[in-house]
Parts: sequence; structure tokens; C-alpha cells
Amino acid sequence: MSLDSPTMGCTESPVLRERGQKAVFCGLTGIVWLHRKMQDAFFLVVGSRTCAHLLQAAAGVMIFAEPRFGTAVLEEQDLAGLADANAELDREVARLLERRPDIRQLFLVGSCPSEVIKLDLERAAERLNTRHAPHVRVYSYSGSGLDTTFTQGEDACLAAMVPTLAASDEEELIVVGALPDVVEDQCASLLSQLGVGPVRMLPARRKDAAPTVGPNTRFILAQPFLGDTAAALERRGAKRIAAPFPFGEEGTTAWLKAVADIYGVSAEKFEEVTAAPRARAKKALAAHKGTLEGKSLFLFPDSQLEIPLARFLARECGMVPTEVGTPFLHRAIMAPELEMLPSTAQLSEGQDLEAQLDRHEAINPDITVCGLGLANPLEAKGHTTKWAIELVFTPIHFYEQAGDLAGLFSRPLRRRALLAGGTT
Ligand code: SF4
Repeated sequence: MSLDSPTMGCTESPVLRERGQKAVFCGLTGIVWLHRKMQDAFFLVVGSRTCAHLLQAAAGVMIFAEPRFGTAVLEEQDLAGLADANAELDREVARLLERRPDIRQLFLVGSCPSEVIKLDLERAAERLNTRHAPHVRVYSYSGSGLDTTFTQGEDACLAAMVPTLAASDEEELIVVGALPDVVEDQCASLLSQLGVGPVRMLPARRKDAAPTVGPNTRFILAQPFLGDTAAALERRGAKRIAAPFPFGEEGTTAWLKAVADIYGVSAEKFEEVTAAPRARAKKALAAHKGTLEGKSLFLFPDSQLEIPLARFLARECGMVPTEVGTPFLHRAIMAPELEMLPSTAQLSEGQDLEAQLDRHEAINPDITVCGLGLANPLEAKGHTTKWAIELVFTPIHFYEQAGDLAGLFSRPLRRRALLAGGTT
């Protein structure tokens, strides 16, 4: 553990750096929302029965149509010989693609077992690409728990797609990060009303709608956990628009303003487009503020949404962040957020679970954001918790979701108060 030397402001605030035991989901979890987003994609996890169980449990078992993810289970004979594992993988992929002509993008997703036996999925993807192109594009990335937390799965997936995007000199804005369709539509509508365009999404809903990329491409992140994807886009010549993330009224306005400034949108036009949704967002937030104001908040490192969430909850809901943990602190991406985060919050990066639990116990916050593994024991000890993973599954971005986002925190506090026989 080490402490940076403290200087002034939250941007330069001391960061507690921890490298110890972690309690987070692995990157396979991202498949749960990515397979819903990319309608012609299939995610083939090359892993063990544990990986298959994790996916089934995380995605739910209510599958009515043909699923768009599966697990090629590595059996003992695969572990004994890589040649067999490669041949078996090729056979499984051929069988799958023959049966499912609707699949246009196939992701081979690495896991702990495939990494341990050093199965080279990048080469497997190249080999399979030559066989199945142009109808199907095969990618590979790692969702292994050995080196990813759960939102890094999306980052690895999108970063794997970037080198295959067609080159172009066109001026284009790419919004990067998987958003629920309804939220993506709201985002596209706001940008279109501002006169910003053409706008593409990464990931696109279908292979044919993928963005192009080149020196005249600008991109803006909609999710804070996409550092590798941002770097991959920059390597292709695209320029990142720095902004806070579009959580809450303030975050959404700042995000849109960052784009509007680059595209020369007038202040009048910006006001005309954003005034009504801003007012709706403020009104929706007011309904939760009474419950949240003055309440203390502790965020364990999990989703990498922690810093923008703490900023939103502090500035728009009046909460008091105590410790704000994040699995990784990407200073460049987080710079606009750190400027806005109250300097009283203790930032921590990485995790040393026991030490962090001790700090949590000493602080005894009103609400704790943490992974599923910690939530139950903490609830049993009388703490009010919020599952970090719910924040990734629930629509929380942009104006129309600002009230829902605040509600995710006010509801457990209200419930706890009611159980205690009081009011909020
Ligand atoms: Fe477990 Fe690793 Fe499979 Fe994730 S990738 S489910 S951590 S074995």
C-alpha cells in the first residue's frame, strides 16, 4: 500500500493504492449486456463449466429464442493437448455457424482455463476468419478473471473490434459504450437536435452499421471503463472529446456541451435543445433529494463507474462520499470527473479487501455500493447496500434516467428507514 504525496484539489488528491485480495466478477459478465446490444453477434466462451454456470446465472435462464452466447467447454483431453483443443474449437465454430446463418460477428472469449493452458484465441480467430469471411467476422478477447474485472470485458471486446473498423477520412462522431437501445435513441436524438452528425455507435447494433475511423473521427466515451478502446481508437487517428460522463442533469449537460463546443453549436441552440429535458431531470431528482441529502456513501471498487457516480450523488443529490474505490484510475479519462468530485472524498485504487472492510466498518456509511459477494454479508451486519452490477444493467445515462439513477440509491435507504420504523 502506498500513499501519493498530497497536493491540492481533488484532481491531485492522495490516492490510496491497494494491491491485495479482490472481490469482483470477471470480464465474462459483459457478455450479458453485449449480446443484447449486438443483434447479429454470438459470444463463444472458451472455458470451463464454471464459466458456463456464471453466464447462465448472470444472464438468467429465461431464454425464449436462440441464445446468442454459449460456452465451448474445455474437457480434460483439451487440457492435455492444445492441438486437440484447436481442432475441437474449429469443429464447434463450423457447426455453430452452419446452424446459425444469422450470426455475422463471432467473439471467441478467453477465460481463466483457456489462459492457463495458453490456448491462443487470437490465432484461432485469424484462422477462423479466413474460413468464414466475409459473411462472419471472428474476433477474440479475454474475459478471464485472472486479468479483468467485470466491466473490462466490454472494454476488451470493443478494443478488439477497433482494428477491423473500415478506414475513412469522413468527419464522424462515435459514441463509445454499450447503452440500452432506449437510452442510445435518446442520446442520438439530442445530438441530432443539436445538429451534430453523422453519429455512429460503438458497438453498433449490427455489423453493417459499424462506424468507420480515421483522422477526422471524434469520439466520446459514454462509459468510464473503456480505456483500452479509447487507446485503440486513438491509434487509428481518432480524437477523444474529454467530458464528464452523462449521469444526472449536470453530467449529461456537460457531456453534451463538450460535443457542442467541438461542433460549434451556438449557446442559444444548446439552450433550446436542452432546457426542457434539463428541467425534467431536475424535477425528477428533486423527488429523491430529501432522502439522499446528507447521507454518507462508501463505494467499493467494482464497476469503474464509482467516480462519476460519486460526483453525481454528491453534487446533484447532496450525498457525502467517504471512500470512492475504483479498480483502476485512468487519470486522463477521469480528469473532468475528478475536478468536480468533492475533495473530502478518499480515493482508492485497487483493492485489499480486509483493510477496506475495516475502513468501511469504521466509517459505517449510510449506503455502500459493492459487488454481490460483499452485499449479503454487509446487509447481514446491518449496512444498506447497492449492487454495483445493477448500475451496469439498468438504464442510468442521460436526462430522462437521472431520476431513476437517484432512485436506485434512495429506495434502499427508504426501505431501511421503514424497516427501522422511521421515515426518510
Ligand atoms: Fe471463473 Fe475465470 Fe471462468 Fe470467470 S473466466 S467464470 S473467473 S473460471
